[in-house]
Amino acid sequence: IEESEKFRIEYWELEEAKLRRMPAPKPLATRIALVTGAGSGIGKAIAHRLVAEGACVVVADLDAANARTVAEELGGPDKAVAVTVDVTSEEQIAASFEEALLAFGGVDLVVNNAGISISKPLLETTARDWDLQHGIMARGSFLVSREAAQVMTEQEMGGDIVYIASKNAVFAGPNNIAYSATKADQAHQVRLLAAELGGHGIRVNGVNPDGVVRGSGIFAGGWGAQRAAVYGVEESELGEFYAQRTLLKREVLPEHVANAVFALTGGDLTHTTGLHIPVDAGVAAAFLR
Ligand code: NAD
Repeated sequence: IEESEKFRIEYWELEEAKLRRMPAPKPLATRIALVTGAGSGIGKAIAHRLVAEGACVVVADLDAANARTVAEELGGPDKAVAVTVDVTSEEQIAASFEEALLAFGGVDLVVNNAGISISKPLLETTARDWDLQHGIMARGSFLVSREAAQVMTEQEMGGDIVYIASKNAVFAGPNNIAYSATKADQAHQVRLLAAELGGHGIRVNGVNPDGVVRGSGIFAGGWGAQRAAVYGVEESELGEFYAQRTLLKREVLPEHVANAVFALTGGDLTHTTGLHIPVDAGVAAAFLR
């Protein structure tokens, strides 16, 4: 009896160890996520969806007040903590992962969502514009992913890194060289990191939204006015304009982008890495205007 009991214990210890090492995606209810730029727009919708699915979330944003508000909306310290982070700072990124370890004991899902949009014609785009845009989105997401990879490989439990890139990562439009080039950089980070981290059970995927006007701070803060001028419509009509140019004739909202993050990280896509999912109601598949 003693021998069989010993065998039983050893067997379950082994099974438990295997379970801990099981590569992502694991059920979201068991997971701890860090979402950059989660104080607003798409990042906020992603944080809401992940918590609704049972995950704990670190709401990481440059805007401390917005991050706090979202963490409170999500149910407070048992489910979500707010962290102020500038993704251009290595020290602040390291500190935000430390906060996650302190609050929830680890991180196994990271969403690179923080961003700004500098939307100008080529001849008006300054070197400073270029550096600012790339500092936040290309360099910033590289730094966040590097920290994520460090933590996830030490944990030996696999994980997910998701980039919120853009349709503009692949398709060219007028007057946004700095923004679109940095999105293309992010898209290639997805493939490069998928190749480098796959052996650790870390999956790296991207979501390419387009035209998420309602609820987006980027649109409210100038991108909307600029796009409206390019398309010759009123800014207030931009949401409808974007909806009408899609194949599905539907407006894309932040929660539709969050649905794609859920599909990639919490669903059944266990063997998918290095992929970009468009969330644009069909724009990239057919035509651009
Ligand atoms: P948003 O302005 O509502 O959200 C961006 C968030 O990033 C803000 O909360 C902001 O404070 C934060 N942020 C900015 N700089 C930061 C920094 N240095 N460090 C940390 N946080 C910082 O805009 P959104 O539309 O929700 O955009 C989110 C992401 O989705 C961006 O990467 C954007 O490029 C991408 N995207 C948006 C659309 C769209 O149609 N809205 C389309 C394609 C891609």
